[in-house]
Amino acid sequence: MGLDVLVVSQTNPTNSQTCMAQGGMNAALYEDTTNYHVEDTLISSKNLASKNAVEIFCNNILDEIEFLDSIGMAFSRDGEKIAQRKLGGARNKRACYAKDYTGLRVLHVLFDYANKLQIPFLNNYKLLKFLVDENKIYGAEFLDIKTSEVKTIKAKSVILASGGYSGIFGKHSTNQLSTIGDGILASYNAGAVLSNLEFVQFHPTALKSSSILISESARGEGGYLLNSDNERFVNELLARDVVVKAIHEQLQKGKEVFLDVRHISHILKHVMPQELKLAKLHENIDIASELLPIKPAAHYSMGGVLVDNFARSSIRGLFAVGEASQSNIHGANRLGGNSLSELLVFGKIAVQCAFEYIKSQNFQDIKFENSSNLDVIFSLNGDKNFYKTKDELSDILYNFAGIVKNENSLIKALNFIENIDVHEYKIGDKSTTFNTDLKNFLEFLSQIELSKLYIKSAFFRKESRGSHLRDDFESENVEFDGISIIDKDKIFIHKLID
Ligand SMILES: Cc1cc2nc3c(=O)[nH]c(=O)nc-3n(C[C@H](O)[C@H](O)[C@H](O)COP(=O)(O)OP(=O)(O)OC[C@H]3O[C@@H](n4cnc5c(N)ncnc54)[C@H](O)[C@@H]3O)c2cc1C
Repeated sequence: MGLDVLVVSQTNPTNSQTCMAQGGMNAALYEDTTNYHVEDTLISSKNLASKNAVEIFCNNILDEIEFLDSIGMAFSRDGEKIAQRKLGGARNKRACYAKDYTGLRVLHVLFDYANKLQIPFLNNYKLLKFLVDENKIYGAEFLDIKTSEVKTIKAKSVILASGGYSGIFGKHSTNQLSTIGDGILASYNAGAVLSNLEFVQFHPTALKSSSILISESARGEGGYLLNSDNERFVNELLARDVVVKAIHEQLQKGKEVFLDVRHISHILKHVMPQELKLAKLHENIDIASELLPIKPAAHYSMGGVLVDNFARSSIRGLFAVGEASQSNIHGANRLGGNSLSELLVFGKIAVQCAFEYIKSQNFQDIKFENSSNLDVIFSLNGDKNFYKTKDELSDILYNFAGIVKNENSLIKALNFIENIDVHEYKIGDKSTTFNTDLKNFLEFLSQIELSKLYIKSAFFRKESRGSHLRDDFESENVEFDGISIIDKDKIFIHKLID
């Protein structure tokens, strides 16, 4: 296209939530239809998705699957066809997969492709803040993790793809601990509008002690949910919010909940080899003969930087895609398999629109001084251990602001956060070379801020809808029939009109 591009990340390019995605990516191939894909997505969103955005998504994903296939994506096959499986909330088999390594395979094939195009990657750079002047982006400041220096990278346009914030729930999340939404926070601090932060999807089947995900495909292939009385208590293939609620009710009654795949273990050995190994490795369970103890764990954040159908945020030149964005396709509850597909569709749209944007603009040569002061963190000298507090915070969030919450429990969680005084901590490692303590402390600070915004949004939405469950407001309320918007200090509902 004739523009310079740089991909910047705090990790290696193939290390992310995407590499963990197992179940598959949705596209209405073969017997399924795009209309059904649109309808199922809208039903699951509980009236909080934009029909236009969902139609763009469901139509465009067909080309993206064809593109992936053409560059060598190792999809599992059903004869000549790409194999597909049925995930919760879908009326047909719609998720294209590569055994249970789907996301990893997507990343690898795209990384190879990017290397062929000689796209440069800069790793071990952590985004700290965006450079914005008059609501227009000019680049960003990063922590160079290798040297602990603050570095500025100028850019005419930025596509944010830094993932979601389910990691604020720490060990009660299927995500990496660093997935605390610091890209979303940096956007907010730069003036971007955020939306739907209250909607965090809990996945029904995470392993009880490690929170490692056993994907929906296990139930898609015929796995059952059982309680400790050996009873099935829910239709396992209903949408995630419904299944999670049913599990939560069992746990509240003091029962344990298990996934039973003993009768299909011979099938799972072929289609989910990774998850079987993880169950053995982390919980020492042989799924051919034993029940898997499970619990719901925070899995996917539907909220993020509000973008339009062109992936544009409210800051000129800042685009957002994937879990960092709120693109109005998931609403109150994402369908399994829609996330990987979203990355491809809106990733491509973002690139095209960023290109158009740059071509249409004049850019001034503005000088930005580094303003992220890390010396303040190095000089902290308190005696509290921030890792311990980080862990406590995730327990508090899970117990009081997690699957089901109410006004009192949210206030408890907020009080805990507001009593955290960052001056009472220090980072143990004061060196400047590959200082992971520094990185983790920065994430602790972001976890605090993002958690406050999450609680504020959950407090504001006085109803239950999709993944947002409150036992003080158990039904949907038409007053909240719209997306929530956080614009600086204001929070309000915006009705979607297609
Ligand atoms: C276990 C698991 C299984 C899943 N299975 C499926 C599935 O089968 N199908 C499906 O559709 N979805 C699935 N999902 C959801 C899906 O994987 C994610 O929603 C999706 O991969 C998110 O992609 P992303 O590019 O937005 O973010 P990520 O893949 O999380 O990538 C974000 C990147 O940004 C980097 N980053 C973050 N913050 C910063 C910063 N401050 N500075 C610099 N870099 C930063 C991270 O290091 C990472 O490399 C699954 C998720 C998990 C956790």
